[in-house]
Amino acid sequence: MANMRMDKNPMPEQDPRARLGNFDEAALGYSAEAAIDEAKRCLNCKEPRCVQGCPMAVPIPAFIAKVAEGDFKGAYDTLFAVSNLPAVCGRVCPQESLCEGRCIRGIKGEPVAIGCLERFTADWHIQNGGPSPDDEYAEPNGHRVAVIGSGPAGLTCAGELVRLGYEVTVYESMDRAGGRMMLGIPAFRLPRSVVEMEIVRLENLGVEIVTESTVGKADSVDALFEQGFEAVFIGSGAGMLLKLNVPGEDLPGVLSAKDLLMRSEELAAGVMAGKHVAVVGDGDMAVDAARTALRLGAADARVACTKPVEALPARREEVRRAQDEGVVFLPETKVTEILAGEDGRVRALKLSGSGPDELAADTVIVAVGTGPDPLLLHTTPGLGATESGGIAADPVSCATSRVGVFAGGDAVTGVGTVIGAMTAGRAAAAGIHKYIQENPHQ
Ligand SMILES: Cc1cc2nc3c(=O)[nH]c(=O)nc-3n(C[C@H](O)[C@H](O)[C@H](O)COP(=O)(O)OP(=O)(O)OC[C@H]3O[C@@H](n4cnc5c(N)ncnc54)[C@H](O)[C@@H]3O)c2cc1C
Ligand code: SF4
Repeated sequence: MANMRMDKNPMPEQDPRARLGNFDEAALGYSAEAAIDEAKRCLNCKEPRCVQGCPMAVPIPAFIAKVAEGDFKGAYDTLFAVSNLPAVCGRVCPQESLCEGRCIRGIKGEPVAIGCLERFTADWHIQNGGPSPDDEYAEPNGHRVAVIGSGPAGLTCAGELVRLGYEVTVYESMDRAGGRMMLGIPAFRLPRSVVEMEIVRLENLGVEIVTESTVGKADSVDALFEQGFEAVFIGSGAGMLLKLNVPGEDLPGVLSAKDLLMRSEELAAGVMAGKHVAVVGDGDMAVDAARTALRLGAADARVACTKPVEALPARREEVRRAQDEGVVFLPETKVTEILAGEDGRVRALKLSGSGPDELAADTVIVAVGTGPDPLLLHTTPGLGATESGGIAADPVSCATSRVGVFAGGDAVTGVGTVIGAMTAGRAAAAGIHKYIQENPHQ
């Protein structure tokens, strides 16, 4: 008998004041009792709208039914058969516009808390042994594939291919694998240990990851083919900084959100003590930067955003958590100039829009986004570009204009979502498998 309560079991959270003093996760996760109770709100629909709303078509009612029975291992196995990164997706997917946005229970009340249940299931697995040593290796099929980039697109592509018996090597520029999941989304939303655990799981399946190796500098895509790889997947993301393009952008006191978020955990706790911070941007990066500034000691953090708060392309519950922590949003506001004081440092933002004409600030964080880096386009003959500077790829097979080279995720679309990148990684693995089966040892 389904639990017909209208509202979700709330996600327990660290107190907003307390969490400003640490980088620990703000959301604490369901207990087993809350998870079972929430799972019983699912109607196990015959034609589940939630699955239609999920880009990866995760078998949502099937895994939730296992949670409702208390069979958490069964729930995990059901999830992991389709998604390589369930502990990540449960935390950062914009469920409100995907699965939960379509859930039938959301018509008259709140939808089933699918994300919270996914997170619970993946965390239960981690807490009860995590990556299992007896993960089965697929029989090697004798074919080698190189993957460029270890974000969700590259890791998913690699994970799918090793399950088919391919020998897969992932090349990553940074000293850590994980892409924006590791060096972007802050730890108070996605703990590093969670990403590491998901990566270990893939390594146990046989994925090899080589860090501090930038393809296009040390080795080119052509060199990878010469080394015997039969196909290459490019999942290099969209890590190139975009500028605000207003006067004053180079003043002392202006920082990039990308740099701040990449270094946030290395910075000393009080490095922004007493600062009056203004963030410019609309998306997750802007919200994350403002919350990070407060954790680093800023006196206040205001976000100048071009849209109404309820229409921001940032996750709704994270906007709410940011507001609980004291972040103030200035909606429908355009920044036209960054103004200097007599000391030559930032003193204010000049604004146009519905609010004030000026916003005083001694620190400005630019979070207007990032775009695909052209390095691989420049160093790979035959690779075509999209109009917006990404790598052009077929939307179904992810094949590019260069034979044997596939691409997906933010490198193709510009900044998107983790689940979007994973979906592309899975499609590319299918495209690569078909290509190699039809053209062995090209
Ligand atoms: C601050 C922030 C917050 C976000 N919040 C969310 C959220 O809440 N929910 C959500 O779904 N999405 C969120 N996103 C977006 C999400 O992280 C990305 O869409 C996703 O990570 C893209 O995956 P990807 O695999 O395409 O690229 P990435 O994750 O960017 O990974 C690409 C990797 O390739 C490496 N690389 C690049 N060039 C080379 C090269 N030449 N050789 C070797 N390696 C290379 C990079 O170092 C990087 O590690 C956020 C992004 C940021 C920055
Ligand atoms: S739409 Fe909602 S109620 Fe129906 S199966 Fe999906 S999660 Fe359960």
